[in-house]
Amino acid sequence: MSSDRPTPYAPGTHLGARYVVEGLVRLAEGRMFYLVHDDRADFPHRTCQDCGRTDVSKDAKSCPNCGAPVAKRRYLVSVRWAPESIEPFERFAKANLRHPAMTSPTEVWREGHLLLSAVPYNGEALMLDEAAPLSNARILDLAQRLAGCLAFLHLRGVSLSEITRRNLLISQDTAVTLFDLDVAEVRPEPVPVPERQADVEALVALLQRYTNAAASDLIALMAQDPAFETPAAFGRAVESNYDRLAACAWGNHLASLSDVGLVRQLNEDNWGWRKLSERAALYVVADGMGGHDAGEVASALAVSTILSKAAEKEEAGLGGPERDDKLLAESFVAANNHIKESASARGSDMGTTMVCVLMVEGKKGYFGNVGDSRAYLLRKRALHQVSQDHSLVAKMVERGRLTQVEARHHPHSNILLRTVGTELDVEVDIFRVEFQSGDRILMCSDGLWGEVEDKDIENILNTYDDPRLAARELVRAAHAGGGKDNVTVMVVVVP
Ligand code: CA
Repeated sequence: MSSDRPTPYAPGTHLGARYVVEGLVRLAEGRMFYLVHDDRADFPHRTCQDCGRTDVSKDAKSCPNCGAPVAKRRYLVSVRWAPESIEPFERFAKANLRHPAMTSPTEVWREGHLLLSAVPYNGEALMLDEAAPLSNARILDLAQRLAGCLAFLHLRGVSLSEITRRNLLISQDTAVTLFDLDVAEVRPEPVPVPERQADVEALVALLQRYTNAAASDLIALMAQDPAFETPAAFGRAVESNYDRLAACAWGNHLASLSDVGLVRQLNEDNWGWRKLSERAALYVVADGMGGHDAGEVASALAVSTILSKAAEKEEAGLGGPERDDKLLAESFVAANNHIKESASARGSDMGTTMVCVLMVEGKKGYFGNVGDSRAYLLRKRALHQVSQDHSLVAKMVERGRLTQVEARHHPHSNILLRTVGTELDVEVDIFRVEFQSGDRILMCSDGLWGEVEDKDIENILNTYDDPRLAARELVRAAHAGGGKDNVTVMVVVVP
């Protein structure tokens, strides 16, 4: 593949006409982000950023020409390599558009077959590192700002090919801006409605990922049928419902974060949550597999199907005491069969793991599992694994032929004995747990537990009571352990 991720630049590498790499900040799907500065030791002078004068003394505090302050400046530089994304982004940069909800590049240039773009760095964070959910008020603010920016771009002929977490930058005052866009086209005339609609759908899908499972009214607004035709229509709907939706109860009881890791190029993990009714909510993590993007499709399909099937069944009154385990198992199997049928239709062998918990009245949970994503319970500061892995090495451990430590490093540790979407009517493990106050649930893909030992996971959960901080720290630990796989974590605090 010509679009493989390039070898990272080492610290000290010179980039463009004046930048020096401080370090790699983040690997993401389709991007690398670096922190750089413009204080090259081999340059005798500085360049004034305001008037462009190139011979400003390094001792000078201000430019002798225009009086602007001159000092070493830092930038966040993004590197992209997919050939189809390069030319449209160059044309977008040339148009030099400015909007308050967008951080525009100050410089865009090529290095070989790569395209680099720089934005000034003042302690901004990447949305990639921000766990879901955000508060309703923050989602609504984001929706308004980003819909406004999208409408601005559309009017100026700019359409996007996608909008993902990597296109969002968080400033120190927590304002979020679009940056480093995935531009599809730059036209001389306004973007036609079908493409506006596609962009607003992408924006809504992104916001839905950050929405609290219990925020039913907000979720309903975003999922309205027919979908919003334009960003302006979406912005108006948010505006007119702002007070009602922002006031929706918000509990700081869950967090989810999914990350591509340090080696893979694509994130094939997925997660989702849904409040099914006043009494029940379903939380899901899935880890897809299969070449050519199929893993991503399988895991997304598994999550969306189990959530919608379970919601249908709950609405039809099929849940309740003595029936919840059946509701979960049947929804699980329905998701399995849907993937199996869709894989057969595509001629693909895609599959996924899936682990989930149906939480009922905050008192008990039904855990469902197929594959080697895991559910853990943290109770009284001790971590317990609830699910059992359906892997070859787990079976060997069970039979006493391997120790846990040997299993971790076994060459066949990735061989699964049971997956979602490979056979019709898969057998699902269901575990019932009666919750105690203070229990916390962790669900994760093997990208976490394969890199971080249980005692370290336990330690992190005990150190960070706030699930958002715990999620972020768990992903960091997976990176520190090697980051060889996609990593997804979901932390749910039992009320
Ligand atoms: Ca995995």
